[in-house]
Amino acid sequence: MTAYSGPVFDMAVKQFTVIADYLSIPEDVRPRLLMPKRAVTVSCPIHRDDGTTAVFEGYRVQHHLTLGPTKGGTRFAASVDLGEVAALAIWMSWKCALVGLPYGGAKGGIGVDPSSLSKRELEALSRRYMQEMIPFVGPHTDVMAPDMGTNEQVMAWFMDTYSMYQGRTVTEIVTGKPVSAGGTLGRREATGRGVAHLTRRVMNDRGIDSNRATAVVQGFGNVGSIAALELHRMGVKVIAVSDHTGALHRPAGLDIPGLIDHAAAHGSIAGYSNELVFDPEDVLTLPCDVVIPAAMERVIDARVAANLRCRIVAEGANGPTTPEADLILERRQDEIFLIPDILCNSGGVVVSYFEWVQDLQQLFWEEEEVMRREYQILDRAFDRMVMRAARDKVFNRTAAMAIGVDRVRGAKETRGLFP
Ligand code: GLU
Repeated sequence: MTAYSGPVFDMAVKQFTVIADYLSIPEDVRPRLLMPKRAVTVSCPIHRDDGTTAVFEGYRVQHHLTLGPTKGGTRFAASVDLGEVAALAIWMSWKCALVGLPYGGAKGGIGVDPSSLSKRELEALSRRYMQEMIPFVGPHTDVMAPDMGTNEQVMAWFMDTYSMYQGRTVTEIVTGKPVSAGGTLGRREATGRGVAHLTRRVMNDRGIDSNRATAVVQGFGNVGSIAALELHRMGVKVIAVSDHTGALHRPAGLDIPGLIDHAAAHGSIAGYSNELVFDPEDVLTLPCDVVIPAAMERVIDARVAANLRCRIVAEGANGPTTPEADLILERRQDEIFLIPDILCNSGGVVVSYFEWVQDLQQLFWEEEEVMRREYQILDRAFDRMVMRAARDKVFNRTAAMAIGVDRVRGAKETRGLFP
């Protein structure tokens, strides 16, 4: 019996089983690696603007404490539940270990649609959530960051709330803060830049000329919009994008800077153009060179995987591909190169790590330094994944996850089992 359930948690378990089989991890050792160390559920009451009281359920799951503090984002979305948060925490562990960060994985969230709250209500809920979490987090225990539905402002409220209770400013309690509140240059762009950087590497390796290449991007939040912008700057034609309101398609390429301005002003891509409106269901399977899922989990299922007409899948989102779809993508790996999520979107947590280090030292870096170090870490992890996949003739996701799982397993073995 376990407290965790749901399709996303089941997916994390299935993925882990594939890796554990490949690494021949004994059955009795598997739960020690897979099952989260701690899970906290809190109820967060706030005053609504109309004078009523509303209570929202919040979660934080800390997957393992073996390598250092836990690290991971906080998601505000109606769909958030304990099982989803646990799966995302587990993936954070493999991600941090793959790129060599001294962290275990964590994730948190609140089951709320943030667009249903006024700014005052959002601030009240963010502050109350952090206040409820104070006994369980800390700069050397668990460090939060943004995820879907949260942003720099929410991180500033988290940091301020924690700091007020400590009686001093503790910038290192969260990452992804505004630069004006102890954040680092380059964090906001880090995930999307990393996705684009790795995509360019694969395009170069496969002889795809960026000036002739086309891409589609699902999701136009922080990750999708920056990835689209970076590709656009490389000369790639971004022919379709979608978000929760719909999709736009223009075979000659969309004006990504213009679309970003529109989304910043209106909160989504809705209303940008009537002529370019397209069915969001068909975005991922458009013929193109690069498909970037940068929104939700489980959007590439077996049907979509069989119908993909691209040469690269760059997973900006966490868990966008189901295990059933993985079997199909594995069969199609000569045709389609997969950059798996835990590598592809790891630029975000890599630069979060830089932010934490800078806050601890109170020594701040130039943006060029942040980007240079980010790309160096991504390139090394990419090389390791490709070498492992070639050596053992395994799928890219298997290779990437195995490197992460192996590192956690090695640390647990060396430290031993207490008492
Ligand atoms: N939420 C992001 C992720 O899924 C960033 C986590 C972090 O920066 O700690 O990787």
